Formats: sequence, C-alpha cells, structure tokens
Amino acid sequence: MKIARVLLDGAPRLCVVDDKAGTLRPLPPEITRLQQVMDAPGFEPGAAIPLAGVTLLAPILPNRNIFCVGKNYREHAKEFSQSGFEAGASKDKHVDDYPAVFTKPASSVIGHDALVEMHPGVTDAVDYEAELAVIIGKPGRNITPDNAWDHVWGYTIINDVTARDRQKNHKQWFLGKGLDTFCPMGPWAVTADEIDGANLDISCRVNGELRQKANTGDLIFTIPMLIATLSAGLALEAGDVISTGTPAGVGIGFTPPRFLKAGDRVEVTIAGIGTLGNSFA
Ligand code: MG
Repeated sequence: MKIARVLLDGAPRLCVVDDKAGTLRPLPPEITRLQQVMDAPGFEPGAAIPLAGVTLLAPILPNRNIFCVGKNYREHAKEFSQSGFEAGASKDKHVDDYPAVFTKPASSVIGHDALVEMHPGVTDAVDYEAELAVIIGKPGRNITPDNAWDHVWGYTIINDVTARDRQKNHKQWFLGKGLDTFCPMGPWAVTADEIDGANLDISCRVNGELRQKANTGDLIFTIPMLIATLSAGLALEAGDVISTGTPAGVGIGFTPPRFLKAGDRVEVTIAGIGTLGNSFA
C-alpha cells in the first residue's frame, strides 16, 4: 500500500494512493500522522479523489532527526574520497570498516514539489544525493540483523541535499546536511510488503539528465546491518527514518564539480515507490 500525506482543504490528511489510477482515498480526518496508521492499520479509506493538483507533504513527520548513512555505495565512496570535499579522506582506502552515521534535523524535511532553498551567503556548493529511506514500524533496541526486517514498516525516497563546503569545513557533516529544506522526502510511503528494499533500482536526474543509476542491492552496509548498528544501545522508535546512502554520480563526482543552481530541478526515482521531484530556488 502507498500512503501519502497531503493538504486537503488546507489541513494535512493521510490518503491511500493509487498512482496508476491517479487517485487518492483519504483516511478519517483524525488520522494526521503516519505513526497512527502503524498503530491501527484497520482504517477505512473514503471515496477516491484525483491525485493531480493535490499538494503532497512529506509522508512522515519524524519525531526526531533523520538517521543517515554516508559512503554506502563503493563507487560513491571513491568519488567522495577523491573529490577533495571529504575532511580527513584517505588516499588509498575509500570504503570504511563501519558505516558513517550522521543525522539531518526533522526541521529540514519538505515534501515533493516543495522548493529547496539555495541559501546564498551560507553555501555555494549545493549538491544532490538520491537515497532509499527506511521507515521503522516496530520499536526495538539491540536488534540483530536476522530480526531487522521485522522492524521495517516501509520505505520512501529522500534527496539528501548537501552543502559540500560546509560538510568539508566543519568536519562533522551536520551543518552541511541540516539546512532548512535540505531533506526532500516523498512523494509517499510504501509498505514493506509491496517491495524488496534490498533490490530496488534507484536513479537521479538533474534537469532531465541522468546523473545517478544503481540498485539498492549494491549497498555496502545492508539495511539489516544498518538497523543492527543504529539500534545497538539506542532504542529505535516507530516512525524513525533511516536514509541508506547515495550511489555514485553526485555533483562532486565530476571534474570540475557540477553544483546545483537556482532553477534546477532534481528528480529521484525508485522502482516500486515513484519519483520525488524538487526545484531549487
Ligand atoms: Mg547521503
């Protein structure tokens, strides 16, 4: 099932999506957050309305920061290490022994089609990162890789927008990753029974030009490994979001780097989910 969070008559509502038919079926108005659907899946959606023209919000309002993973595809780990934008990069070793985990504040989250701010004066090196995001449904601590899939409620798409200059200058990645509007998410969430998170084609286009193309089967640290790593001594909650990392082809993978500029549009597509598109202004 695909579930979107949309604006209906000016208020956020959750809806079941039929993207092939181009329709939405609103859930009862008291259901305003995806976490409520996880608690009580036996809801009854209303009559279908057209999807076209409806404002899509981010499918989930996180209770806390988005967990993110860096350098989780081999070719991207190499392009990042060699780009000159990784603080403390090793010349010879591109793939790390342990996943690099950072967070983006919940305040950076925006929905499909919302504008991403360029933040002139703060950064002049804005870049895109297409990523599969995992939505946790079942809470847990010290989750083993064998049990990790039981904790996955579903998936969505994240563009891990990054200010490369701030990522490099401040060493820790938070300031480069956490700017307002730097976490486009959507267009909706898809339940785990519909797709195999370990085998999804992912691609990214900038103004229609293909820049990134991979499969989530190429992840260095798999979804079960990431859940086990994150939940070690840190209880995961229903509604937590884990962005799993980006493949090769980001702007700093080019020489010279191809940073985004005002007016650009970035579209991230993942098979079985859909396309998350955002323009930059
Ligand atoms: Mg990323």
